[in-house]
Amino acid sequence: MASEFDLIRRHFTRAPRHTALAVGDDAALLQPRAGMQLAVSTDMLVAGTHFFPDADAEALGWKTLAVNVSDIAAMGAEPRWAVLALSLPSADEAWIAAFARGFFACAEAFGVDLAGGDTTRGPLNLCVTIFGEVPVGAAITRDGAQPGHDIWITGTPGLASLGLAHLRGEIALQGDHARRCLDALHRPRPRVGFGLALRGIASAMLDVSDGLLGDLGHILERSACGARIDVPTLPLADLRAAGADDDLARRCLLSGGDDYELLFTAPAARRDEIAALGQTLGLPVTRIGTVTAQPGQLLLREADDREHYSAPRGYDHFG
Ligand code: ADP
Ligand code: MG
Repeated sequence: MASEFDLIRRHFTRAPRHTALAVGDDAALLQPRAGMQLAVSTDMLVAGTHFFPDADAEALGWKTLAVNVSDIAAMGAEPRWAVLALSLPSADEAWIAAFARGFFACAEAFGVDLAGGDTTRGPLNLCVTIFGEVPVGAAITRDGAQPGHDIWITGTPGLASLGLAHLRGEIALQGDHARRCLDALHRPRPRVGFGLALRGIASAMLDVSDGLLGDLGHILERSACGARIDVPTLPLADLRAAGADDDLARRCLLSGGDDYELLFTAPAARRDEIAALGQTLGLPVTRIGTVTAQPGQLLLREADDREHYSAPRGYDHFG
């Protein structure tokens, strides 16, 4: 049976690229570059709550880090370091090796050094704290939206929750559609490049983890504004093409979680720049609505111009 120290040495110790002192001492030493602030965030993944206990270990390793990288992206910051706290039911070497492969694949893809962590026996629980860097004053927070600003979303939100609906047997997706949706669910690609490019452009931003409308509600609350979403502009085409009917496609896009796309606001004067960014970075970006002056009021405008209120509700673990 491998000891805790063997496990850490074998699976979680890699030569750091930009860390003064990483795994192996009582604490890591991190040196932010001159003029940079640290952006710090923690996300915990709990078996049975965030993933099925028999989930593929390598995909889980990727996702555990990716959801944290996404929070850094959502600040317009650059991911740099992570620490990993693991609670594992047993020292299953094959499982741990696969988890570490997925984790480090994500770390390499986004330039993150694993600087330390903690390993303990217990119910399966995966917790990362991530540190990013952003020039002082350049972070994109949730509180800068103003009436009249556009509301934008990157990518195709809803794919991950359509993948989940497939796993739950609520829909049977075929071939490439199934693969694409399950890939979105299991291997989310945090939008780091887009987040960085939006510094100085976006007025407010977050990553969509709990559903688009619910997360938009967080921007509205912090910015003391309302919003009108223009339903005909929503990027529903790929969800429909995958086989979702109108109702399911709309539910996945507006309320599904786990997408990790960026939802942001920006002045109308920045429209062309934002569209050009989508082209340059090869990621669709869609203007879906407008910030309004009524605090907390969320309106949906349908194709026939009918408007109705919606509750800005996302997934709430205690709701
Ligand atoms: P301590 O007893 O001082 O808390 P540990 O034995 O928990 O030290 O950890 C030894 C070293 O291994 C520390 O540098 C810690 O950051 C690192 N470490 C422990 N678990 C992990 C892990 N899962 N991933 C990365 N580093 C880890
Ligand atoms: Mg420890």
